[in-house]
Amino acid sequence: MVEELWITNPRTSELIKPMKPLRAILPAALLLFTLACPSLPAAEKLKVLIVDGQNNHSWATTTPVLKWILEESGRFTVAVSTTPPGPPKGRMSAEQKAEFEKSSAPLWAKWRPKFSDYDVVVSNYNGDRWPDEVRAAFVEYVRNGGGLVIFHAADNAFSDWPEFNEMIGVGGWGGRNEKSGPMLRWRDGKVVRDETPGGGGTHGPQHEFVVEIRDTEHPITKGLPARWLHAIDELYSKLRGPAKNLTVLATAFADPGKRNGTGEHEPMLMTIAYGKGRVFHDALGHAPPSMVDIGFQVTLARGTEWAATGKVTLPAPKPEEMPADKVVKREPPAKP
Ligand code: ZN
Repeated sequence: MVEELWITNPRTSELIKPMKPLRAILPAALLLFTLACPSLPAAEKLKVLIVDGQNNHSWATTTPVLKWILEESGRFTVAVSTTPPGPPKGRMSAEQKAEFEKSSAPLWAKWRPKFSDYDVVVSNYNGDRWPDEVRAAFVEYVRNGGGLVIFHAADNAFSDWPEFNEMIGVGGWGGRNEKSGPMLRWRDGKVVRDETPGGGGTHGPQHEFVVEIRDTEHPITKGLPARWLHAIDELYSKLRGPAKNLTVLATAFADPGKRNGTGEHEPMLMTIAYGKGRVFHDALGHAPPSMVDIGFQVTLARGTEWAATGKVTLPAPKPEEMPADKVVKREPPAKP
């Protein structure tokens, strides 16, 4: 006698009436479940801490997208630590400044993110100097093997903090210039350190551009299509810094026909070794519309996994999901 048992579709939670005896359908049902739910049990997921709170970019709209991308991969749980706000825009009188500092001092005194509770910290922060105690804990965390991801304008931050500049390898703005270190150029199949004097950090109008993988053996980029068309974004150029222990994974060509185009292949994805720590530096991601392409999402998630563990288990997408001739998007939900 054939038992008629209903099972639940793991994608939709609908009850399905099996056409075959349950015994026969079970392996297929399990396979479907595996494909639909790559999620690991919470205890086995990597713990991510996103730090935000001040940025000349819209951290309040990019942090939820970062969190969504990482959580959707099934590999991470994500917490967010938001610093006290920066000073209000516009000029402040000396009195207003003193008043602002007085009101924010107790907030800063309370902001003590526990970096060591996490496998990897993602910085979406570009703002006021952190308290000395937090700076020291952050350096110790990365030096002792903590993972760090630098997201877009996070590489504009803290230009006068030597340890931070070593962690990010290269950065822009904040008074950076030839004294900060060289620019990195991809020429004739290799990275060239360019000591030409000048300010660090520029970009032209936002546009879609091709990102080219330059290191096909690194765990983050291994198995990915060699080139993909990235969604509309700023093409960060002329980043400068100590660039020690740095590997360029991918570049983009800054078209000299566009405003501020350098005519160079500028580094977009990089890794940096700092002490025992691993840093993944992602210069992409100006705003949510810059974060919709699968190429951006996949490299962010794989880079974050690598920064946390030194390995990558997240699968490469199909080549047609990262093509070089059109932007293939995976939009986050309206409120990720
Ligand atoms: Zn930007």
